[in-house]
Amino acid sequence: MQYVQLHVVRYAAAILAAADGSKQTLFCEEQLCEEPLAYLIPDAARPGGGGQDVEQRPAMVCRTHAEEMLGYPPEDQPIFRRIQGPEE
Ligand SMILES: [Zn+2]
Repeated sequence: MQYVQLHVVRYAAAILAAADGSKQTLFCEEQLCEEPLAYLIPDAARPGGGGQDVEQRPAMVCRTHAEEMLGYPPEDQPIFRRIQGPEE
């Protein structure tokens, strides 16, 4: 089971809605990446402050950078899926 607190979803949804409303395409937030957004990483961590601190905030990235952050390929996440029970 995975979970994301709804205020994180609202934060991301507001950014996406504003872009849609102004017909802007949003790109991956990693520097120099021009791939389209594909994943929300709710607890992405990066260096912050003087280099000793870690800053954590939601990130929206492309599939390639999601894989880099996770260390493995991200799964597709259908809104609905039915998992077949064991056959008798
Ligand atoms: Zn990217």
